[in-house]
Order: sequence, then structure tokens, then C-alpha cells
Amino acid sequence: MTVTELVSYDEALASYDPVMGLEVHVELGTRTKMFCGCSTELGAEANSQVCPTCLGLPGALPVVNKAGVESAIRIGLALNCSIADWCRFARKNYFYPDMPKNFQTSQYDEPIAFDGYLDVQLEDGEVFRVEIERAHMEEDTGKSTHVGGATGRIHGASHSLLDYNRAGIPLIEIVTKPIVGAGERAPEVAKAYVAELRELIKALGVSEARMEMGQMRCDVNLSLRPKGTEKFGTRSETKNVNSLRSVERAARFEIQRHAAVLSSGGTIIQETRHFHEDTGSTTSGRVKEEAEDYRYFPEPDLVPVAPSREWVEELRATLPELPRVRRMRLREEWGISAHEMQSVLNAGAVDPIVATVEAGAPADQARKWWMGELARRANEDGVELTALAITPEQVARICALVAEGSLNDKLARQTIEGVLAGEGTPDEVVEKRGLKIVSDEGALGKAVDEAIAGNPDVAEKIRGGKVQAAGALVGAVMKATRGQADAARARQMILERLGVEG
Ligand SMILES: [Zn+2]
Repeated sequence: MTVTELVSYDEALASYDPVMGLEVHVELGTRTKMFCGCSTELGAEANSQVCPTCLGLPGALPVVNKAGVESAIRIGLALNCSIADWCRFARKNYFYPDMPKNFQTSQYDEPIAFDGYLDVQLEDGEVFRVEIERAHMEEDTGKSTHVGGATGRIHGASHSLLDYNRAGIPLIEIVTKPIVGAGERAPEVAKAYVAELRELIKALGVSEARMEMGQMRCDVNLSLRPKGTEKFGTRSETKNVNSLRSVERAARFEIQRHAAVLSSGGTIIQETRHFHEDTGSTTSGRVKEEAEDYRYFPEPDLVPVAPSREWVEELRATLPELPRVRRMRLREEWGISAHEMQSVLNAGAVDPIVATVEAGAPADQARKWWMGELARRANEDGVELTALAITPEQVARICALVAEGSLNDKLARQTIEGVLAGEGTPDEVVEKRGLKIVSDEGALGKAVDEAIAGNPDVAEKIRGGKVQAAGALVGAVMKATRGQADAARARQMILERLGVEG
């Protein structure tokens, strides 16, 4: 059935209680695929990174990628999961052209990691615990490109192209337990969970987790139950949502759609749905198969995975400081609020600021430049802060030049401009562009004398005790020196020459 009329979000929440499940796929950054030695490098010519194993040719046998298992265990440990002593891969049988083996090698009832949790912080500062059901290993499929249709979907297409370079790239699927008790904040919890998980994956160094590149994607499962009841309703599964904002919007839309269907006496069908970025809505995909439809059975070509306890403990020792803990520590060190920290995080500025501080800059100065001028330039160019052609060491050097009085903020911005334009290091740019502040008595004194001589009426007011009028003369000095004067020193010299106490 189609629903055109949604009920309002508040109305939906007045009658129903949302239950969510989030399934996140993370593409690992291993050098080779999960079961063969093919490269995982992005951007290669279609079907140039394939072999008999990942093409499913007769007689080809898979071998497990140890680095993939290692990443899976580290993710499991970071999510506070138990790690299986022994587990197997399973075949998930179905036909689709992007999967040449006719089955996906996955894990079914024996995941490598299970029973964990991830604490996420909401915007009001409250911490919400999301329970993790399991994290299991599997492989990605190839990529279909449907040609000739209007939307890039298969409907209306004249033909399809297949690229198997992605087939066999290791994936970790992380599945939450049903998330209950979030109420009206369910969409916010979904977004915060995926955001925190992405930070965690990046901190572990197992994937770049770039959602816009499909390296991390989220299925949002959602159902409603009448308020005050226990039994879960029928769920819908919105597939492959690929931005944080979309995760939140998809959950919100489904709450409103389910409520509309249920309150008009309709029935929710268990199905997959597609999320549309442009309208913020979802449309029906296919009616969901049950697990038994896939005829899962243990993969006979692979030996079971039995990580020794020693190895698991070795891997536990490699875990980095977790992102939420690190952010709390940095907030304290930098003396900023939770809200300010959130802005730094959203700007992708945490690591650049940390590196700039390590290179010797005070935290407030490092934050000022990365969140100000540099964020503005990155935004203009539509790139990440880390893609700018300036290093944290160079930013620290600019902070030092400002601190020692060689540059003021305006000259520092010009220095940044020069570094970004490839004119050299900060010192080289200052030298080449002649940006050093004018503070020597000779040059500055001459500019001060000229400013006084050129504005006799202002000078007279200052002599008469109107000290604040000195601002106009400082302005004249700055103008004469093209903004390169040390303003504080200029003001001092003006007052001295006019015989007034500052
Ligand atoms: Zn291969």
C-alpha cells in the first residue's frame, strides 16, 4: 500500500513507541580482499582486480585474510564484545548478478564478536547506551550500474554493467540489539550512534569509514508499538543510508509513515525500503526474505576461525584511546564546553588541532586558526581541513610569529594565504611578501609623526586629555604602513609624543 499522508512527528510519538535496530556495514581498509589476494585499491579499471576465487570459478578455493580477522576482533573489543573461541563462515545463498559465486560468504549463527555496547553522547550531554548484538565478517558484492533509465535504478534501464572489483572486499557488519526507550529521540540516537561508530572505526585505523564513498553504510530498521505495550511491531528496513543526516531523517520519516499506516487501521509489511536524499522520504523496495530463505550452511571450503586467547589479548593491548574518552580529555585540556567540542568534531578539526598543539602552539590559538580562517578556506574549496596545503607545524609556526609580535592577525591571514598558494613556509612567505610587522622606532616613528602632523585637530584633542581620540591616529599609522604596524606600540608612541599618559 502507499501512504501519502504522514502524521506529524509529535502526533506519532503521542501514540507510539519506536523500536530501532541499526545494521552498519564497514568496508575494511585491508590491502587485499577477504578470501583472495586481489587488490582492494579504489578507482581501478572495472574488472581489473579479480581472480578465479572472487569470480567464483570452478575449483577456486578461498583463504581467509588474517588482517581482516584481526580488524574484526579489534572492532569487537572496542565495542566491548566477547570474542568467539571458535566460529565459522557460512554461505548465504541467493542469486544476484553482482555476486558471481551465487552465495555470499558471511557468518550466520557464529559471529566472531557478540554481546557488546557503545555509549553515545546526545546533544544535551546525556549518554545513551546502545547494546550490540554482534559484529560478523563477510564480503562485499560487486557493483551494478544500470544504464538507460532516468534514476540509475534497474527500472527503466536498457542494460546493466557489472564491476567485480569490489566483490570479496572484507566487510564487518555490526548489528545492534533492539534500541528501546529512546522515544522521541530515536532519530537523534541513530545519528549519534553512527557518528560515534565512525569515529571509533577511524581511531582503530581499520577503515577510513567515509560514508559518502560507501565505505560505511547503515540500514535503519524501525517499528512502532502502541505506547505502554511490550510486543514489537512489524519492522521496515531502510537500506544503505549513507550520511549521518540521512540516518536521522530516514528514522524520522519511517516513524511518521508507520504511525500513519497503523493509525488508519492498516498493516505494516515487512519489507526493505529505499531512502531518497532529495525528498527525505522512503519508498518500497522488496518484500523481505526470512533467514531460512537463504539456506545458510557452514562454508565447507574454509577452516573455522579459532583466535587464541593470547592473540585476542595482544590485540586488546593495541586498542587506542576511545574517541569519546579522548574528547573528554581534550575538552578538559583545552578548557572548552561540550558544545564547542561538538563544533570542533563536526569540522573534522580534532586531529589538526592536536597536532598543532603538539608542535608547540597554545590550544586556544590552534583552535582559533583551524576553526576560523582555515575552516573558512576549506569550506570555500569544498575540502576537508586535512586536505589543505598547510601542515599543523606550519600553523604552529604562524601562532609563534603572532605571539612574538612579528605578525598581527591580518598579516597572519596573509601568511596563511601564501602558504596555501604554495609560496613556501610561513617564514618564506613573510620574507617574500614583506609581511613583518613594523615596530622599529625609525619607520614607525616616521609614520607616527606624519599621522600627528596630518591631523592637527585630533592631536589637539588628545593633548587636551581626550585619550580615546588616539584611535584615529593609530588608524592613520596602520593605513600608512599597510596594516603592518604594531598597533599597541604605535598608540604608545603617539601618546608619548603628545605628552599624555596612556
Ligand atoms: Zn580475487
